[in-house]
Amino acid sequence: MNLITAPRGTFDLMPPQAIVWEWMESTIRKVFLSYGYGEIRTPIFEHTELFQRGIGETTDIVEKEMYTLVDKGGRSLTLRPEGTASVVRAYIEHKLYGQAPVAKLFYIGPMFRQERPQAGRFRQFHQFGVEMIGEKSPVADAEVIILAHDLYRQLGLTELEIHLNTVGCPACRQEYKAALTSALQAVADQLCPTCQQRLVRNPLRLLDCKSPVCQEVISRVPSIHHYLCADCRHHFDQVTTLLEKVGVKYKRSDKLVRGLDYYTRTVFEIINHDLGAQNALCGGGRYDGLVAECGGPAVPGVGFASGMERLYTTLEQKGKIPELPFGPQLYVLPLGEELNVVAFEIATVLRRQGFSVEMGNGAKSLKAQLKTAHKSGAGYAVIIGEEEWRERQVTLKTMADGSQKRLPASGLMEEIAELVSPRLIVPLREE
Ligand code: AMP
Repeated sequence: MNLITAPRGTFDLMPPQAIVWEWMESTIRKVFLSYGYGEIRTPIFEHTELFQRGIGETTDIVEKEMYTLVDKGGRSLTLRPEGTASVVRAYIEHKLYGQAPVAKLFYIGPMFRQERPQAGRFRQFHQFGVEMIGEKSPVADAEVIILAHDLYRQLGLTELEIHLNTVGCPACRQEYKAALTSALQAVADQLCPTCQQRLVRNPLRLLDCKSPVCQEVISRVPSIHHYLCADCRHHFDQVTTLLEKVGVKYKRSDKLVRGLDYYTRTVFEIINHDLGAQNALCGGGRYDGLVAECGGPAVPGVGFASGMERLYTTLEQKGKIPELPFGPQLYVLPLGEELNVVAFEIATVLRRQGFSVEMGNGAKSLKAQLKTAHKSGAGYAVIIGEEEWRERQVTLKTMADGSQKRLPASGLMEEIAELVSPRLIVPLREE
């Protein structure tokens, strides 16, 4: 029989790694909450039309990468490839614009794109991100960029580069698009086949191409900064001033456009060069036309999305994953099968007090049980021997140095409480 494996581009998160993810997620939540963002959990699938309208028909995601299915009712549904469109849909559906001038929302969860899997690129991956909807001031752009940067710093990452650009507004971008198209048409034969198509359909997207030949051509095309209208230029200058005011370093990257159609004005990425080809930890920017495009009022928005997998790899590369509690704190070992019930009772009492406890099996030798206890990472073993138990005594063994102490079972809890703190918050009383 064929072995059934996880689908290509997906992976299982196994218990030791899941603990690190849990730590990353709880740090992320804390930082987002402290910046005043509330969590939103939207469905994993949405009507396909949402992404077609919200992300843009000519983007790689919508053209090639969506997992779309038709359900039994004949509806076209798509596994969400990103978070912003869903958040905007929920913002409109729940009329958040009627509740407060600005909505600040964050999300964490799986996303799905049928891309070619490679290092740092999966088909099911996880993103966390924020959306601030309703604020047009450049202060919002700066807040979002600093939030992303501070979040990584909270996790211990310091040497990351912020790449910053503006893609203007629909008016000045139109002029830039025309200038770009005419500059590129003259050298179209030097472009990769994908870019030759992009030139016709969406020339701005061409600036994103990673092919060295296209990169060389792109380095010679005009910069959008020569085409910005006065308002867009002022907005960009204010964002940079605000970042400088609080000492956040950034690199101006005038060819950064990002892969999604909805951006207006500010776009940014935070880069870890050690990640290789897929080196963007996060990307974001302003999307002033998106809410209206999705059927809501004409309100502006700004946000970012960051990948959990790339964050995990970065933390691992830079040695920033802390020692996290994994495995039991205590191991209860009965010496002989007839003491299994006693061991079970002791383990249960300890567990109800919030300690993390595993127990051995008295049918096995002390040596075998101690080996398992060592492997589990438990700090202490409670050994219950036949002779000792006749006097209602047990032995408490410190696994690190092998030292042990005999004590009455009635004093065990007190002794343990001196050595380790319970992992659960609320101790349960006996039933
Ligand atoms: P995007 O939604 O394409 O702007 O991507 C934002 C961030 O999500 C990127 O910087 C990555 O960290 C992450 N990301 C996007 N696509 C993938 C993928 N296929 N696999 C893993 N992470 C991804």
